Amino acid sequence: MKTAFFYFRMTEQLSREQLLQSANEFGTPLYIYNADKIEIQYKRLTSAFNNNKTRFFYACKALTNINILKFIKSIGCSVDCSSINEVKLALFAGFEPSNVLYTSNGIGFEEIEEAQLLGVIINIDSLSNLKKFGKKYGNSYPVGVRLRPNIMAGGNLKIATGHDKSKFGIPVEQLGDLLQIITHYQINITNLHMHTGSDIKDADVFLQGIEVLFDIVPHFPKLKSIDLGGGFKVGYKEGDTAIDIDNLAARVMAAFDNNEHTKNLEIWFEPGKFMVSECGYFITKVNVIKETAAATFAGVNSGFNHLIRPMFYDAYHRIENLSNPDGEIKEFSITGYICETDTFAWQRPMNEVREDDLLVFYNAGAYGFEMSSNYNSRYKPAEVMVKNGEPKLIRKRDEFEDLLSGQIID
Ligand SMILES: *Cc1c(COP(=O)(O)O)cnc(C)c1O
Repeated sequence: MKTAFFYFRMTEQLSREQLLQSANEFGTPLYIYNADKIEIQYKRLTSAFNNNKTRFFYACKALTNINILKFIKSIGCSVDCSSINEVKLALFAGFEPSNVLYTSNGIGFEEIEEAQLLGVIINIDSLSNLKKFGKKYGNSYPVGVRLRPNIMAGGNLKIATGHDKSKFGIPVEQLGDLLQIITHYQINITNLHMHTGSDIKDADVFLQGIEVLFDIVPHFPKLKSIDLGGGFKVGYKEGDTAIDIDNLAARVMAAFDNNEHTKNLEIWFEPGKFMVSECGYFITKVNVIKETAAATFAGVNSGFNHLIRPMFYDAYHRIENLSNPDGEIKEFSITGYICETDTFAWQRPMNEVREDDLLVFYNAGAYGFEMSSNYNSRYKPAEVMVKNGEPKLIRKRDEFEDLLSGQIID
């Protein structure tokens, strides 16, 4: 494997001792992120696409803690934002506006005006906003458009964004209308964008998208880049297939090089999950063991308020018992403390779980803390980042005052 040379100095995975140490020091429930793993993932991308014309924008909606953003900036990666507030967080973290991309969807035009004032790169995803943009800025501010290639891709329908019933992007069949607006307002289109979904394990999807975009490239003479979005799948289960980045890179670079209209264009990607999923660990403590005819439940001090992916997407997260690594393997159903069904895992074989044991959820870096809430008036967990072997608190656990914050109290 190409990336083997990192391993002698970087940590792919935090050890059981490191996880226990942080849980003891900072309490549970707790999110822990391994900075080394983020860097390894970034290097995996840059060493596969070693052509100096590929740029990676970390899709920060996966995890926006400001310390993570600063770390991502420090390793040379750019950032992709899905709201104007993420744009502001990225600038706050120190990114140059020229390294901040705002790929909008369904937003009011005021946010585009704000992004323009902040000087960041913008992808517009509706004819309506593009018209308003043209009217206000003409050709004075280069801009990208997000297209909908009508490709079904992604791990499940909730995270599929490029198909022909999707709200995302300008449908390619509306190319005529798009070109009319561009010509009328002389808009300077420098980027064509697509993002077809998340959990894509097959490079073919990107190649199909490329085919759709390449067909229309000649209509955009000022083009500087093609942005293929994110969605690279990582392994969640033992034996899961992740996307083969080296294969993807070879095929994408060949496609760009073999087309006279695209061989000088930059290739952009917006990986979110690929960058931060595997760096993250979520640690919970077992409150209650409940034996029933159907299952033995292990109820933990968390719920879908902290990690919604299992309930929302039927996502699988690997779970291990940190406290009893040699315990007998038995089946447990891991559930939360929310007053609603919140099952993390059903009848999962694992080392015997006892009350007060600490359970770790793997792949918790992406869309974990970020999608958490205060439902049931529970506190959001603390977050810790491990850098150079040192765990550091990067977000305090909520306190009672946080539940009242913003409320008007007479
Ligand atoms: C969510 C999103 C991404 C990142 O998706 P991942 O599956 O996390 O890689 C990239 N681009 C856009 C426009 C997105 O909305």
